[in-house]
Amino acid sequence: MEKLFIYNTLGRTKEEFKAINPPFLGMYVCGPTVYSDVHLGNCRTFMSFDLMYRYLVHLGYKVRYVRNITDAGHLEGDRDEGDDKFAKKAKLMQLEPMEIVQKYTVGFRDIMALLNNLPPSIEPTATGHIIEQQEITKQIIKNGLAYEHNGTVYFDVEKFAKTNNYTALTNRKLEELLENTRELDGQEDKKGRLDFALWIKAKPEHLMKWPSPWGVGFPGWHIECSAMSTKYLGEQFDIHGGGMDLQATHHTNEIAQNIAYCGKSPANYWLHTNMLTVNGQKMSKSLGNSFLPMELFTGEHHLLSKGFSPMTVRFFMMQTHYRSTLDFSNDALLASEKAYTRLMESYKVLQTLKASATTSENVSTLERACYDAMNDDFNTPVLIAHLFDAIRMINSANDKKVSLTQSDIDLLQKIYQHFIFDVMGLRKEEEATGKASAALEGVMQLVLELRDKAKTNKDFATSDDIRNKLTQANIQVKDSKEGVSWSI
Ligand code: AMP
Ligand code: ZN
Repeated sequence: MEKLFIYNTLGRTKEEFKAINPPFLGMYVCGPTVYSDVHLGNCRTFMSFDLMYRYLVHLGYKVRYVRNITDAGHLEGDRDEGDDKFAKKAKLMQLEPMEIVQKYTVGFRDIMALLNNLPPSIEPTATGHIIEQQEITKQIIKNGLAYEHNGTVYFDVEKFAKTNNYTALTNRKLEELLENTRELDGQEDKKGRLDFALWIKAKPEHLMKWPSPWGVGFPGWHIECSAMSTKYLGEQFDIHGGGMDLQATHHTNEIAQNIAYCGKSPANYWLHTNMLTVNGQKMSKSLGNSFLPMELFTGEHHLLSKGFSPMTVRFFMMQTHYRSTLDFSNDALLASEKAYTRLMESYKVLQTLKASATTSENVSTLERACYDAMNDDFNTPVLIAHLFDAIRMINSANDKKVSLTQSDIDLLQKIYQHFIFDVMGLRKEEEATGKASAALEGVMQLVLELRDKAKTNKDFATSDDIRNKLTQANIQVKDSKEGVSWSI
């Protein structure tokens, strides 16, 4: 089964990995740009790579998983123009840009942990690798594929494309790209309209800037990933990932930079996750149609009928293959919640099953089918369909309609552990939501009774105070027609 997986996606056997130096499987994923909260679309991408990481680890690979934090170098336009997103937000919030970075990095990590994503092996930042970005830029200039003009360094795309395939990832024609790109207006410093910046001269008011051989400036959008992937995974590594929207520009330029720097294309396999959409439209910060994970957990969003647990959200994401678009809706989440609950209820039933002397089922074929699904480009919807076969087996055995031996029951336990808990990263709801122990349940009942009494006595100051203090303690109280509920 591993052969099949390796044949399909990696092209190397485990033995070959062990024989090479360094003996790890390198995986680089473009991380968040930390000038605002991550939305659910971003989470989909990070969850997809978390699943891949978990599965590779499950198969026994030693994986070095690098996911960067973009904390500098992002301008609003994708043509190296416009305001710096970090500076703009800093001004708005009257904070230092690095306070913005800190705030949203911490928030991002909290959300990743709530959704049970494993932390990457290394989480390097763009601002922590300015020297490395400058070194690569210097080398590309030396190699004749970049030029400096007026303090900004540009990558010469047309010169590069003369001897290399610039559009290897998208198979688009260079002429077509040129046609669709605005002509230079004579004000710009670059030679060709497809040229992009490796280093950008800072205007005096720019806050995040560093000295360089070309004057004071800051790195361009793409160079950080070339610098950090090369530093931690070498000039060539196994998997490079990110959302589909990064393919045409960010990753295309990253490959060009790496080839111009050292003659090698960085990754053996480029994996791109498709977009999470809302009513068919990409969820995006700029379109204003984003849902924040916290809005989902608390249910505080006008398009949601209730809150959903992080594990329901995770299960929802896994129900669609990472290469397909996934449309987000309240109804889809309600269906996922139902399915996820069934999965967990059957696990409880499995703990109580009594073994028979003979079997009428073939659990090992089911286990194989689960591996086959994952080996086929991490096909989680097919995996989940097989897991529902397991549920049917468990429930039928419980109803005495089929019989399972002790070794069948043990194998079903293994399937749950390996595929549901280890690989899909789902947790039992109690663990996942940090659902309270019996003691906390009791205390919460008391607190909510006191709040209710205060409200009945029209003592709204006290009832609001209770709610605010609970919020500070990370406990959300929700009033609805059905009554009061709370969650951590
Ligand atoms: P950003 O913070 O905007 O740089 O995005 C972080 C990651 O989320 C990138 O890999 C993006 O490609 C990905 N991403 C952005 N929007 C979506 C979306 N709607 N669905 C899935 N992934 C997304
Ligand atoms: Zn990147």
